[in-house]
Amino acid sequence: MALSSKGFMTRALHAEGHHKPFNAHNMPIFQTSTFYFDSPEHGADLFSGKQQGHIYTRIGNPTVEAYERVVSSLEGGDEAVAFSSGLAVIYASIMSFAEQGDHVISGDTLYGPSIHLIGDVMARSGIESTFIDTSDLEAVKRSIRPNTKVVFLETPANPTCRITDIRAVSELAHANGAIGVVDGTFATPRFQLPLELGADISLHSTTKFINGHGDIVGGIATASEDRAKVIRKFRTDTGACVSPMDAFLSLRGVRTLGIRMERQNANALVIAKFLGSHPKVSRVYYHGLPNDPGYGVAMKQMSGFGCTFSFDMAGGYDAAKDLLKGVEIMTLAVSLGTVDTLIQHPASMTHASVPPEIMKQQGLTPEMVRIHVGLEEPEDIIAELSKAFEAV
Ligand code: PLP
Repeated sequence: MALSSKGFMTRALHAEGHHKPFNAHNMPIFQTSTFYFDSPEHGADLFSGKQQGHIYTRIGNPTVEAYERVVSSLEGGDEAVAFSSGLAVIYASIMSFAEQGDHVISGDTLYGPSIHLIGDVMARSGIESTFIDTSDLEAVKRSIRPNTKVVFLETPANPTCRITDIRAVSELAHANGAIGVVDGTFATPRFQLPLELGADISLHSTTKFINGHGDIVGGIATASEDRAKVIRKFRTDTGACVSPMDAFLSLRGVRTLGIRMERQNANALVIAKFLGSHPKVSRVYYHGLPNDPGYGVAMKQMSGFGCTFSFDMAGGYDAAKDLLKGVEIMTLAVSLGTVDTLIQHPASMTHASVPPEIMKQQGLTPEMVRIHVGLEEPEDIIAELSKAFEAV
């Protein structure tokens, strides 16, 4: 059944394929490390690639592959490769295409640990990096060197929702022989398709929206067949495979990604407008509001805005921390992408490890609060925020 022309929800529900072992309707969890061979010849043929089949779960597993088929269909790519975490998939997607002596350009507004991964860990392998504002195309142009192999960016970026023009940056990368890698965790394939916009690898921390229920840690990259093959080999060699159980939970989650994102996006717009009009909030960072600097590019390249964004408390750092004391329905926790609302303080939590000068460069303020809006009725979240504001 050719599904590529079907709608998002149809693909989310059916791209894994109907023919499952033992006529199971739901894809079973292949909770096994290894797979037996029918004969010594069979084993040898699987290893040499003469026959297709399963050998060992670090190399491949039917539950993991069913989940990868769904994500690659939603992304409009040839193949997806699932990983044990978002950081593992970023590492693999860059290191598969850069080596000692190469240069990587990275957005400067990123999830804090991604900055360490690129700036410190990859530097130990002799890979140079330059962190810039990738929404500034002139800065991207200026930073490209003859040895630039990868341009990596997060859009919308965590936590300021800075928006980068994926098509324009991918074109600049390609013109200089580099590839464009997009971390689209905040958008998901429901709202943004980096491969269609010209990027070479689209990746996500699946810990977030793709799983959606906050019960796994994972990552996934989608690319053309030849690039996916290189990334898959990197995964096999480094061992950062996702477990069959986590792949099962992600597959279950991704089936409802479309409707979750649509509803959470609608709720987020209501809450962002409320925050934007509150006297104790000095700024809202949400590309879904027409006065946001990212609105224009977001309208061009996204079909929805997502539901994770930030706002500054007019009362400064202490006010931001005090607001979080009023949390009851919302959960005071890092992460995002869950069905319920999470709230946190980036400067002392997710981005605490980012050096102050980079925080400033990122536009991350000490008074910033990040909210991930869930599926609760927005009026209940607004009531709780209103009460918490009163106490600040
Ligand atoms: N990318 C983004 C945008 C994130 O927000 C995160 C984590 O919050 C990651 C990557 C890292 O993902 P993980 O925690 O699954 O390794």
